Amino acid sequence: MPHPTQLYQHVPESRWPIVYSPRYNITFLGLEKLHPFDAGKWGKVISFLKEEKLLSDSMLVEAREASDEDLLVVHTRRYLNELKVPQESDVGSGAPDAQWSFAVATITEIPPVIFLPNFLVQRKVLKPLRTQTGGTIMAGKLAVERGWAINIGGGFHHCSSDRGGGFCAYADITLAIKFLFERVEGVSRATIVDLDAHQGNGHERDFMGDKRVYIMDVYNRHIYPGDRFAKQAIRRKVELEWGTEDDEYLRKVERNLEKALQEHQPDVVVYNAGTDVLEGDRLGGLSISPQGVVKRDELVFRLVRGHQVPILMVTSGGYQKRTARIIADSILNLYGQGLIGPQPANVSAQNSDTPLLPLEVP
Ligand SMILES: [Zn+2]
Repeated sequence: MPHPTQLYQHVPESRWPIVYSPRYNITFLGLEKLHPFDAGKWGKVISFLKEEKLLSDSMLVEAREASDEDLLVVHTRRYLNELKVPQESDVGSGAPDAQWSFAVATITEIPPVIFLPNFLVQRKVLKPLRTQTGGTIMAGKLAVERGWAINIGGGFHHCSSDRGGGFCAYADITLAIKFLFERVEGVSRATIVDLDAHQGNGHERDFMGDKRVYIMDVYNRHIYPGDRFAKQAIRRKVELEWGTEDDEYLRKVERNLEKALQEHQPDVVVYNAGTDVLEGDRLGGLSISPQGVVKRDELVFRLVRGHQVPILMVTSGGYQKRTARIIADSILNLYGQGLIGPQPANVSAQNSDTPLLPLEVP
């Protein structure tokens, strides 16, 4: 019997399957402003969507923090404890840095984190990340019920059950899929479409050898994490060169996603929509334009929804100051294209003459 969870509660039909909480955002007494990393991008996406009158608070689903019991569906107790306490090597050394959270600083790769004592890290970093993780799990269920869902945060694809890294402390993608497999009837196969600029080694390690989960990963082959072991779990691997541009990128995404959906018929697609593919992103090293990102998301939604498969999108990496605006523009475009909307969209059981979506993909 799965444990009782707060994350699978009923959501009224009046709400859109867009999950968010103000608690997603990371603030360090203003320190974060000194760093180019935009630690408040999630809130800004929502602000833009409200400004554009797409959404109001009463239409959103508020994310809840994943509890320890929720996290234990995937994580080991040992790993969760490692995050909670200062590392042994730091304790009792007598140095003024004894209580600093090097483990978490490494995982999150937010330089200001190393200046914070552990209790602040818990409150300022891990709590937001746990809330975003709860959001991804909630959005998984909503995606299956409504045909689509978006978590405005999440996408921590470098974290696996017993190891964090690269700003990922919890394996939200693995968790969302395992929750669905365990609790939702009719969901036993999943496809992960990972289009963040980095290889998604976390979910790859977690689903290594698991035939139920098909992984397509498109990433810059020259950057972090270069995890050769994890690559064995990728069923459709697209390795990109430095500076790859829109045309080549979109062509490769489209062709490979079509094949992926033919090779494995999933009950749900988890779309890791990282925006660090954007030109000027020093970590990603690719050269995709803002319009290219918007087009990419449209393409993925069109193909997946055209196959009548529910899709869960998470926003993942990409922390330039302009990133939030681009994510918002992409969501507005999905709405404009009729690929998301307020209706409980059950494309496979149409009860009107007008299909919600074109069944043929242009
Ligand atoms: Zn990334």
